[in-house]
Amino acid sequence: MLNITVQKTTAPKQKPADETKLGFGKLFTDHMFLMDYTAGEGWHDARIVPYGPFQMDPATTVFHYAQEIFEGMKAYRTAEGKVQLFRPDCNAARFNDSADRMGMPPIPEEDFVQAVKALVDVDRDWVPHSDGASLYIRPFCIATDVGLGVHAARHYRFAIICSPSGAYYAEGLDPVRIYVEDEYIRAAPGLTGFCKCGGNYAASIKAGEKAEELGFSQVLWLDGVEKKYVEEVGSMNIMFKIDGKVYTAACTGTVLPGVTRRSIIELLKDWGYEVIEGKLAIADVMKAADAGKLEEVFGTGTAAVVSPVKELDWEGKVALIGDGKIGALTQKLYDTLTGIQWGRLPDTKGWTVPVE
Ligand SMILES: *Cc1c(COP(=O)(O)O)cnc(C)c1O
Repeated sequence: MLNITVQKTTAPKQKPADETKLGFGKLFTDHMFLMDYTAGEGWHDARIVPYGPFQMDPATTVFHYAQEIFEGMKAYRTAEGKVQLFRPDCNAARFNDSADRMGMPPIPEEDFVQAVKALVDVDRDWVPHSDGASLYIRPFCIATDVGLGVHAARHYRFAIICSPSGAYYAEGLDPVRIYVEDEYIRAAPGLTGFCKCGGNYAASIKAGEKAEELGFSQVLWLDGVEKKYVEEVGSMNIMFKIDGKVYTAACTGTVLPGVTRRSIIELLKDWGYEVIEGKLAIADVMKAADAGKLEEVFGTGTAAVVSPVKELDWEGKVALIGDGKIGALTQKLYDTLTGIQWGRLPDTKGWTVPVE
């Protein structure tokens, strides 16, 4: 249990009048959570303070060697005005998996969840009211030693910031075109693919820009060894419905274990679908498309929940999916998960956690 001190702002910001123009991650709430770590002492000084800049020495480790991890989660406002989180324990556990790989100190799961709840409670009025809009929560941890030696830092800062964000799909779930990346890789066995670390994103930006220039909205990554098997897209996991079965890459170290992915797999199994977590060759995906058996493809992640895919381009070959519109299963998954998250459907799984 953390002892969190709260210093409220004396200059609260104006809240946005038009929630349809929020966008994603552009505006931040009045407060932030901070906690510092010192080797030998552990985590200390848990506090909620007015949102504002950090002052740091230019030789701070994180600027040079990228010892940094983060999480992404949301707070949802229900029709009754209650505020709730979705499976925050999963984010806490994954945060510690990332921390372990990056040589960073863990945070007890209950402390992580307590900190998220405390901050969301203080900034509760910032949780949007309009349909599909939510409060995006970004916990992160950085190494704060000062010096250029390469070793695990002895000082860290854990912070949480919140950003009211608009409905991901302002105009319905529009299927996207995806570029299958055949030059760059995102992850390889033994590396940090399963971590939510800034470094993974830094290494993926160039491929994303290339895909965007070519008119695609995301990159689909293949495995880093043979460039043969599908892994994930940009910041989402990806699933393929082929001939009635659902395929997705296994989480064996190179794929980010998404909370959305995991929840969707549970729902699919409940509904009687066969879900295969394993190797799926991109060549077989293209073959299934040619044979008319590639029924649905969709990305999964906290921001979008599901993102339907209408086209995959790989080495000059094009796979068109379904009739270019969102598939029935993709839509059902979207409706079910968002229904639970916004409290429109009963939460029979115990996935939601109230912020009281
Ligand atoms: C965060 C993330 C996902 C999705 O995870 P969720 O917990 O479902 O939001 C997938 N892939 C990558 C690379 C990510 O960073």
